[in-house]
Amino acid sequence: MTRPILPGSSIGILGGGQLGRMLALAARTMGYSPHVLCPEGRSPAGQVADREVVAAYDDLDAVRRFAADVAAVTFEFENVPAAAALAAAACCPVHPSAEVLEVCQHRLREKRWLAARGLPTADFRSVRTPEELRAAIDAVGLPAVLKTSGFGYDGKGQRRVTTRGEAKAALADLGGELIFERFVDFTAELSVVAARSTAGDLVTYGPVENRHQHHILDLTLAPAGLPPSLSARAQELARAVLEALDVVGVLCVELFLTRQGDLLVNELAPRPHNSGHYTIEACEASQFEQQLRAVCGLPLGDATQRAPAAMANLLGDLWWPDPALTTPREPRWPRLLGRPGVHLHLYGKRDPRPGRKMGHLTVLAADAETAGLAAVAARTALLEG
Ligand code: AMP
Repeated sequence: MTRPILPGSSIGILGGGQLGRMLALAARTMGYSPHVLCPEGRSPAGQVADREVVAAYDDLDAVRRFAADVAAVTFEFENVPAAAALAAAACCPVHPSAEVLEVCQHRLREKRWLAARGLPTADFRSVRTPEELRAAIDAVGLPAVLKTSGFGYDGKGQRRVTTRGEAKAALADLGGELIFERFVDFTAELSVVAARSTAGDLVTYGPVENRHQHHILDLTLAPAGLPPSLSARAQELARAVLEALDVVGVLCVELFLTRQGDLLVNELAPRPHNSGHYTIEACEASQFEQQLRAVCGLPLGDATQRAPAAMANLLGDLWWPDPALTTPREPRWPRLLGRPGVHLHLYGKRDPRPGRKMGHLTVLAADAETAGLAAVAARTALLEG
């Protein structure tokens, strides 16, 4: 067993977005010094780090120098090239490992990995050519979703197709190695965020329910309000994934709940997740604190949820309430902050483009639905007047 990395040490984070920012803040709270490497300066994470190194992820010399200066390296962004993880690993412990990244950053590899371990997914085939597409339609059926294998998130690089013609057009448009997946008639999208320590201990949060708008997470309700047997099954699936992947750190398992009551794994995200932001206010230890503890080889914290909660994302659209505007208008923050129990998080992003995640808010209440209604009402108030 390697010795734990103690407070006072420097922790390296590859990626400069909001997940890195909240991880860096958790690290600061516990007396660590966060360092961030990302391709753009004054990043959301870099703003709250002790050191921000601006370099491309494939600048392996820069990654090595960065890693040589910290006690451990972790990620907030899973599309960092696995070569960067390997380069960092030559200098210090890296969690999760390059192997975990390799599985999770390629949708087809990930689905094959899940299927090979008997973990339930939507029926899928790999497709590169019109012939393979025809065979996939015959085997899997329509409607379906065609997805690119790499670098997809928030619904990017994917198309829902209902006819052979649409599928052919989508293949031509998306190109490359695609995954053709049965369209799942789900009643809810769920997720389980889980953390696993170097000692193999594991804690889970949720399952929570995630509601999307235009493929982007809009609202998380925690807990999801499922029958106990289904909650337990979702947690078991998450445990099976983290153990089989030998993850050290946080990983989110995104799930579909089908109309028949089955759970299917949609995607794995080997890092803290947007659907786990509510843990900052609602749980004994947040997902970010767990990531830090795991990466440092420390015991995990208590994942108990203290109160039902909801999280609503704040997208750049809130800065553009009127299509006639030529410059963004600041949302009416006092209207939100005048509401009791609303916790505001903004990520320090300067350019509020529509669809861009600028922040989120969390509300605690007697039950998750009530918290959800309050969160949406607080967000709507930002557009008033
Ligand atoms: P992904 O980028 O794979 O997480 O997909 C983004 C969103 O697209 C999901 O959260 C679902 O709402 C939807 N989606 C993805 N795959 C499927 C599928 N096979 N069936 C139905 N909806 C899907």
